Amino acid sequence: MKLIRTAVIVILLTLVLSACFGPTSTDTSREPRPPQTSDNGTQKPDDHPPDKPAGETPDATGPETDRTTEAVWIAAGDVMMHTPQYPGSYDSKSKRYVFDPFFEKVRPILEEGDWSIVNLEVPLGGEDLKYTGYPLFNAPPEMAEALKNSGINIVGTANNHALDRGEKGVLRTIAALEEQGLIYKGTAGSQAEAEQAVIVEKNEIKMGFLAYTYGTNGIPVPEGKPYLISLIDEQRMVEDIEKLKAEGADFITVNLHFGIEYQFQPNEEQQRLAHRLIEAGADIIAGSHPHVVQPYEVVDTVNADGNSRRSVIIYSMGNFISNQQGDFKDYGVIFRIHVRKQHRTGQVEFTKIEPIPTWVYKYKKNGLNQYRILPLDETLSKRNQPGLSLGDYKQLESSLKILNKRLESMLK
Ligand SMILES: [Zn+2]
Repeated sequence: MKLIRTAVIVILLTLVLSACFGPTSTDTSREPRPPQTSDNGTQKPDDHPPDKPAGETPDATGPETDRTTEAVWIAAGDVMMHTPQYPGSYDSKSKRYVFDPFFEKVRPILEEGDWSIVNLEVPLGGEDLKYTGYPLFNAPPEMAEALKNSGINIVGTANNHALDRGEKGVLRTIAALEEQGLIYKGTAGSQAEAEQAVIVEKNEIKMGFLAYTYGTNGIPVPEGKPYLISLIDEQRMVEDIEKLKAEGADFITVNLHFGIEYQFQPNEEQQRLAHRLIEAGADIIAGSHPHVVQPYEVVDTVNADGNSRRSVIIYSMGNFISNQQGDFKDYGVIFRIHVRKQHRTGQVEFTKIEPIPTWVYKYKKNGLNQYRILPLDETLSKRNQPGLSLGDYKQLESSLKILNKRLESMLK
């Protein structure tokens, strides 16, 4: 019996791992493959079978080439772990941390995403490196499991806290994410891995994914190991975008960790860089770091071939989960973008771009802090969240108005 169970686990593991490293790969080691391989070195975790045939919208009368398919892109901001978030998440029975409740109210939204992305702003370095919050973070690997359970499948790991536990922290974070089958970009365990293109295909639409950070809070990148963290470097970013295009990406998301903390508007440099990357071929800039929500822009341009092209710049999605309170630090935004691909031309268009503002509801249970990310519109229309008073709803309502106004302030 035990043998059979072990065999099943081995098969399952093989499936999970081969899913991570591409459909033709039989390489189950943690060592990433060099970028130039038979399947272009891309990661296509859900390449086959198609996971959502419902996303297809075949034209029953037209030729096959008029076919379009659709998929949903979702992203949220910073996943932070401050010290006050730990005690209330510890399950003394299993002796494990359980962070799933943070996300339970937004799980239905995140699960809708074919690509669901967050910025993980804390190394998952393991208990022996001590669990801590600000200023040098380290959280339990159980966070990877909670992200996975919440519907997240792609994680940006390039941010100013990525090196808070040095190389060990980077490598263990990668291992924790891989163990959950999560795709990541922004940190790497080797030069080959850093150069490996991440292309995630859903409903026959290939999204290329990149992630960069402005810095590492002054923590030096270990000598001879620049691959550990992907730093903002315009020239390299443009090359990375071109490489993804060459490898077949239909559209490209760049997770950018940039800007100034607690500023409600993007500065000039953020705007310049974001527009530069759009010009270079990026389609969505998913920004984070300021810990507050900044506006988004929709950029309409015409390609050299005469086709119109729509891109989206989200300057900052704010905190998705954290212990930060006040001055809008407890608010964030999930973005949901509907993506449609016209297979005849290969053109991808964004048919719907929706910001979904969120708020971190912090309360006490048995004297310990609890946190729930609440989608604001839904919370305000249902008004059935236990613990919230009429006054709270009033406050949330006025905050939502301010947030929406800010979000839309750069739309033309
Ligand atoms: Zn940051």
